Amino acid sequence: MQQIYLYQNRLIPLTQVHISPEDRGYYFGDGAYEVFRVYNGILYETEAHFTRLKKTVDALRIKLPADHTALTRQLEELVRANRLQEGIVYMQITRGTAPRVHAFPAGAEPVLMAYTQPLARPVATMEKGISAVTTEDIRWLRCDLKTLNLLPNVMAKQTAVDHGTGDVVFHRSGTVTECSASNMMIVKNGVVRTHPADNLILHGVTRAVVLRLAQSEGIPTQETPFTVEELLQADEAFITGTTVEVTPVTSVDGKPIGDGRPGAVTRQLQQAFEAAIPTA
Ligand code: PLP
Repeated sequence: MQQIYLYQNRLIPLTQVHISPEDRGYYFGDGAYEVFRVYNGILYETEAHFTRLKKTVDALRIKLPADHTALTRQLEELVRANRLQEGIVYMQITRGTAPRVHAFPAGAEPVLMAYTQPLARPVATMEKGISAVTTEDIRWLRCDLKTLNLLPNVMAKQTAVDHGTGDVVFHRSGTVTECSASNMMIVKNGVVRTHPADNLILHGVTRAVVLRLAQSEGIPTQETPFTVEELLQADEAFITGTTVEVTPVTSVDGKPIGDGRPGAVTRQLQQAFEAAIPTA
């Protein structure tokens, strides 16, 4: 079956998608993106993703071609066209196509593209946990925007791969912010702690889901920054994200977190997350 893309309001096969080398996404990373989860053929937390996309495109002064409702309908059609049951929808919008000048080009039309990708739930890593290494967070000061400029994240993820670990933990002068493509949470004395949703982290959709679930499970939460030292002294640590869901972090920089195994609070949140997954 041919892979179907959403491209400029049309559902067409990949072979018919023609993106210009003058697309500003290509030159400048001048655009925004979202990654949606699809469970049992159903788009997950769609409104939260579109709210975040709107915030990013507004900040970049890029106009979405349609409202949330119309775009959701298009993504649902895309999911159906590709008969996707378990996986993701990747969607990006760039400022458009124009000869290369830094300032916004007059009259360029935004280019919107989306595709689906089958992806199994990360069952093995959720069960076993991952290791991580710390690295200085060298990104700009608008990490709350989901822009196409991901070079620091790409370099950081490669650092994790080079160390044989699952991810990096970003810190700014010792204060943990998040990971290369996920948010970080620790558990200390039964309290879940994570960096506040400010300009230094992406406001993860999964982060918000997990904080809500923690509250309904009666687990106290605190949105306050913590240090690498506090991470190393934590009872438990885990990351949250659209593709990683709730994945335990069992060691950082070669040192075990807690007893070096996924903790009880992490397990409780994983179960609550699982129970909230939409079923067909
Ligand atoms: N932080 C960063 C830097 C990310 O790239 C992502 C997801 O891609 C997240 C956090 C998690 O966000 P979400 O839960 O919306 O997937």
